[in-house]
Amino acid sequence: QDPTVPRRVSDRIDLVALARSVAADFVPIAADRGIDLGVKITDPVPACIHGNPESLRIMLGNLVDNAIRYTPGGGMVDIVVRRHPHKIVMSVEDTGPGIPEEDLDRVLDRFYRVPGTPSEGSGLGLAIVRQIVHLHGAEIKLCNGMRGLQVEITFHTSI
Ligand code: ATP
Ligand code: MG
Repeated sequence: QDPTVPRRVSDRIDLVALARSVAADFVPIAADRGIDLGVKITDPVPACIHGNPESLRIMLGNLVDNAIRYTPGGGMVDIVVRRHPHKIVMSVEDTGPGIPEEDLDRVLDRFYRVPGTPSEGSGLGLAIVRQIVHLHGAEIKLCNGMRGLQVEITFHTSI
């Protein structure tokens, strides 16, 4: 079964545990690039949703891969999990150059890359992310924050 098109999205997934596990996978790659990768959580308890574990790992991995790849050395990448009464927001925040406002909508499209983006890539990562987000009934929002790009995923039903 293709994990980018999950049929089962009913497993109990702790987003805090997922964040820590994906961060651990990427720490060596981040360190190679001189980037400080960390996890920030609002309180130290599980933040659970219904989902597909392989798909959510690909989703978060693609976002962290981008953040590390497009942030200059010396920068920071954080995976943030914020709990709210009826939703959980997971975001990946970096200190890189962000994305020009006119391209923010288009980077979620298949094969779209911001003109002049260094390094190779297929332009598929964020399209896959969007697909997985929608199959979980969640929402994705990209914005240029004060430090760099913030990609926010809102899961509406915490369990
Ligand atoms: P791949 O398929 O290997 O992921 P890609 O990284 O180019 O290739 P996407 O992940 O879909 O494709 O990203 C699309 C484009 O959005 C990137 O080419 C880059 O221009 C821009 N982008 C994505 N994430 C960031 C980020 N964190 N900071 C700055 N630009 C970004
Ligand atoms: Mg990518």
